[in-house]
Amino acid sequence: MRVPFSPPRMDQKMADAVVDTLYSGWITTGPKTRKLEEELAKYTGGKAAVCLNSATAGLELALRWFGVSEGDEVILPAYTYCATANVVMHCGATPVLVDIQDDFNIDVSKIAAAITEKTKVIMPVDIAGMPIDYDELQAVLASDNIKGLFSPKSAEQTKLGRIMVLADAAHSIGATYKGKMSGTLADMSSFSFHAVKNLPTAEGGSVIINLPEQFDSHAVQKQLKVKSLHGQSKDALEKTKAGGWRYDITEPGYKCNMTDIQAALGLVELERYDDDMLVRRKEIFDKYNEALSNYSWANIPVYKTEDKQSCFHIYMLRINGALEEQRDQIIDKISAEKVAVNVHFQPIPLLTAYKKFGYKMSDYPVAWNNYQNEITLPVFYDITDEQIWWVVDALVNAVDSVLK
Ligand SMILES: *Cc1c(COP(=O)(O)O)cnc(C)c1O
Repeated sequence: MRVPFSPPRMDQKMADAVVDTLYSGWITTGPKTRKLEEELAKYTGGKAAVCLNSATAGLELALRWFGVSEGDEVILPAYTYCATANVVMHCGATPVLVDIQDDFNIDVSKIAAAITEKTKVIMPVDIAGMPIDYDELQAVLASDNIKGLFSPKSAEQTKLGRIMVLADAAHSIGATYKGKMSGTLADMSSFSFHAVKNLPTAEGGSVIINLPEQFDSHAVQKQLKVKSLHGQSKDALEKTKAGGWRYDITEPGYKCNMTDIQAALGLVELERYDDDMLVRRKEIFDKYNEALSNYSWANIPVYKTEDKQSCFHIYMLRINGALEEQRDQIIDKISAEKVAVNVHFQPIPLLTAYKKFGYKMSDYPVAWNNYQNEITLPVFYDITDEQIWWVVDALVNAVDSVLK
């Protein structure tokens, strides 16, 4: 038996949606992208949504919209995918890393000490689909001495009057915190619809805008869309209207719009997300939990607390007591059984691109500890029970032989 890591769910509905779009004539950003934006705002309860070609593009556009540039600092967890830090570098700003807590999310109690008068944005990451401690984060930002440090440089920064919270919500569409949906937990949030994420559109992402009332969310939506399409004052849909040919370029913008082919996939997946995809993912998580609960070495991921409900994005198991080398040996043995597992993630200070800027792994001991014994098990809609038991057998045998 073979077990892949997370192939996307593909069926006739997805294929039909793409073919229908191809024949509609709208293969760039058109009516389906607009529709997906409306549906995402409705689904999350956010004020507006902007669909793009990736979550990364959404994070970068949001930083640029807020005027983040050279000399600024942006706080993010040491434990995340590189994209969270890369976009900060693209803007010429400095990523300031904060260690995590046991559940892999940023340790909010360490954020205040990382804030300086240069801090413009905090980018929390809802790892594996589990929201961070948003109320605790808001309390840090609301304290007088933190507010007093904020030194706005752009009109948007002045208008907000404090550090912006930009959630890397790449994992967390459908997750909730105190009954509120991901997308409405931060000023802006960026979802990923990449092929391996919960709701894939092949490649894709969406920024959900949830700024306070001094902002006109639809005006901000328009600004982000203009930025995502060369700085063009009209999108393709507006330009094709009779007599609508003339447009202006209001800034040297970027090119990261979503196509209707992608949006068509997203519309299919969003409609069946809560009642089908999330139900199935929970079943898979429950099966792993049940099978592994008898093993004292298995540090099982928490996906529900009193305040939080995860959307079951990735099953991040930890092998108690395993050192990095042993974890790697365990993975080799599992792979020999044709089971694909992963490690989420190599913390930012381990990456060559960041090492050379002086980030040191030893400054983030919890991130290191969690990383060194982490193994992510396969979770995908079509995984069978037999495949789940195969994964568990391969894992148990591998741990037994390496950790004896
Ligand atoms: C996948 C991922 C991203 C990037 O998503 P894209 O849509 O591929 O740009 C960003 N952050 C985290 C934590 C991710 O896992």
